[in-house]
Amino acid sequence: MINPGIGMNIPFVDLSAQYQTIKSEIDDAIAAVIEENAYIGGTRVEQFEAAFAEAHGAQHCIAVANGTDAIYVVLKMLGIGPGDEVITVANSWISTSETISQTGARPVFVDVDEHYTIDVSKIEAAITEATRAIIPVHLYGQPADMSPIVELCTRHGLRLVEDCAQAHLAAYAGKFASSFGDAGTFSFYPGKNLGAYGDAGAILTHNEELATQCRMFARHGALKKHEHVMEGINSRLDGIQAAVLLVKLKYLSEWTEKRIRVAAQYSEQLADLGDLELPATAADRKHVFHLYVVRTAKRDALRKFLAGQGIATGVHYPTALPLLPAYDYLKMTPQHIPRAYANQSQILSLPMYPEMTDSQIEYVVSKVRRFFNS
Ligand SMILES: *Cc1c(COP(=O)(O)O)cnc(C)c1O
Repeated sequence: MINPGIGMNIPFVDLSAQYQTIKSEIDDAIAAVIEENAYIGGTRVEQFEAAFAEAHGAQHCIAVANGTDAIYVVLKMLGIGPGDEVITVANSWISTSETISQTGARPVFVDVDEHYTIDVSKIEAAITEATRAIIPVHLYGQPADMSPIVELCTRHGLRLVEDCAQAHLAAYAGKFASSFGDAGTFSFYPGKNLGAYGDAGAILTHNEELATQCRMFARHGALKKHEHVMEGINSRLDGIQAAVLLVKLKYLSEWTEKRIRVAAQYSEQLADLGDLELPATAADRKHVFHLYVVRTAKRDALRKFLAGQGIATGVHYPTALPLLPAYDYLKMTPQHIPRAYANQSQILSLPMYPEMTDSQIEYVVSKVRRFFNS
């Protein structure tokens, strides 16, 4: 129980707390890589690829240097380039749209729905002759509404790439996120649900041909050393990151359940507070709570109040992608994406990590309650 007179410091994520729970395994795994000089590629990368594919029921996994490359490599190998349009969602991390532009194609943004994922009722109106693909983002850990998206892709002959950077082990209608289209792309940025100790990413796909192409492109266009079939890029997973990820993958399911439990505790104890809107999980979805995002018109005041109580929060993201200076050239205005625009000033991500203790959760809850009740 909390003594209300005593303040606590609650970080937004606590990677040290996680490290302490697996310290000896991690230290041994890293030391082994150094002893073997297995810095790039090698058996640990292959083992991780096999284990990560298996965890998501995928046929193929291609480990790459980060989650941004994962999207870029897939789009390139799907043949997307200049003159093409790719539809994605207005609220995401910039990697989702940046990689579309990197191929030479043009990003086309669609507003979000009430679950912060792409509004499927608005996609069809965004499809043109030039549309080649859709990239839904399973933002905050909740899968986008995949059935209608798959149906649209089939009907219009579009490629489907799922941005699963925040959605490890998330599921829709009993199927893992990443399994609905051509490929799913993942990030293992340290703060993600499965995080490396540096940059790392992966592509999952059921398509053998696409898997081979992606692997080749990410390795300078060569499957065998010095046999460059094409020019590619250098996007590899380090041995040390693979070793860390192999250790952590064993705990991913347990950590995911803990995140879901933290979210359930928040949702139970923060119900019915002023205009505070809690994250809702849509029917038939497994939300893995990379982030626990609430919404209130008093967001800035709440954020400031919590900071004063030692509670770190985040905003994901402060500006919808089409309204960033980088996309001025698209000439989009708030009227094009009313929901994403309204969310900008209202969303707040509360501390969320599997190691959160009951007293930490209670502390956050008590301070949020105090803000709304005073
Ligand atoms: C983190 C993230 C990425 C990019 O991953 P990096 O590993 O940082 O390159 C892409 N999309 C989304 C939605 C993300 O959250």
